[in-house]
Amino acid sequence: MFKALVMTQDAETGMASGAIQDLSLDDLPAGEVTVAVDYSTVNYKDGLCLSAKGGGLVRTYPHVPGIDFAGTVEASSDDRYQPGDKVVLTGWRVGEAFWGGYAQKARVKADWLVPLPAGVSPRQAMAVGTAGFTAMLAVMALEDHGLKPGNGPVLVTGAAGGVGSVATAILAHLAYEVAAVTGRLETGDYLRSLGATQIVAREELNETVKRPLESETWSGCVDAVGGAMLARVLGQMKYGASVAAVGLAGGAALPATVIPFLLRGVNLLGIDSVMQPFESRQRAWQRIATDLPMDKLEAMVQPATLADLPQLGADILAGQVKGRVVVDLNA
Ligand code: NDP
Repeated sequence: MFKALVMTQDAETGMASGAIQDLSLDDLPAGEVTVAVDYSTVNYKDGLCLSAKGGGLVRTYPHVPGIDFAGTVEASSDDRYQPGDKVVLTGWRVGEAFWGGYAQKARVKADWLVPLPAGVSPRQAMAVGTAGFTAMLAVMALEDHGLKPGNGPVLVTGAAGGVGSVATAILAHLAYEVAAVTGRLETGDYLRSLGATQIVAREELNETVKRPLESETWSGCVDAVGGAMLARVLGQMKYGASVAAVGLAGGAALPATVIPFLLRGVNLLGIDSVMQPFESRQRAWQRIATDLPMDKLEAMVQPATLADLPQLGADILAGQVKGRVVVDLNA
């Protein structure tokens, strides 16, 4: 038997809620690899999956959420994995359409796993998590489109959140000047400790302006917020610079004009972590091993247990989680 946070639906109200249950291996879905989950985490999507309506992501109950996990292979019918291998899983709709990491065991497709790179422990992998992995994909996309240190500040929006914190630490480590946008100015010291050199108040950027172009300020941007802020930022990018659009914490609508694209050659790069091919996942995890300082990562960590998850789910939807939550499945 093992412990899991299981979401069940009330037959009358249709509302879902989570409780810790004892499950057996026979309860797990079919799959080639059984993993003893060491750590999971809390992403924005987990907040949705933990909510009463499942955020439109969970279709069937009972459901085990947890969109990412890291752990140790226990059994595998696929040659690529042997018992004892350390693995990480993000994406593929695990934790949404499929059972995820909020359990001491998970059974998944071998194709969904990535071997952990040397130097990254399962706990560190979940301190990174989907949020940090996506931040790395965003930095790689900006580099692929010509971002180089020394061209001026790179803007990170939603900076005190998971994606933003990891993006800030990676960019600072790579010698970029980082301007961190936050609605929580009390996180300024934290953001500076991650390497931000400038703190920008959310209010300065979340209002739409009539002028489609403002002064050319940012050499790149990792955007976790979307909405009016993304629209505003597009008009402040330097000539030929790129914005990596990662998230929608501030809204999905994009009240923008095409002028920054046409007059300044600005690029809007879409970043998806869920369906990334294996090779690019491997490349991103390797880059995390080399370009994310682990002491900075540790400073982002808020430890948690399975029992903390319902509250943490609500907190992340309210924009109240700082940095990265690491859920210890054996605590
Ligand atoms: P977090 O909640 O940890 O971070 C989001 C941050 O955005 C908050 O901490 C807050 O930062 C800021 N924020 C929240 N609400 C608003 C608002 N109304 N207006 C402006 N800023 C706001 O979430 P994650 O970092 O885990 O995820 C961030 C986004 O990225 C989410 O939308 C998520 O769904 C998306 N995402 C996308 C992925 C992909 O594959 N494309 C993968 C992972 C995440 P502060 O307090 O500093 O202002």
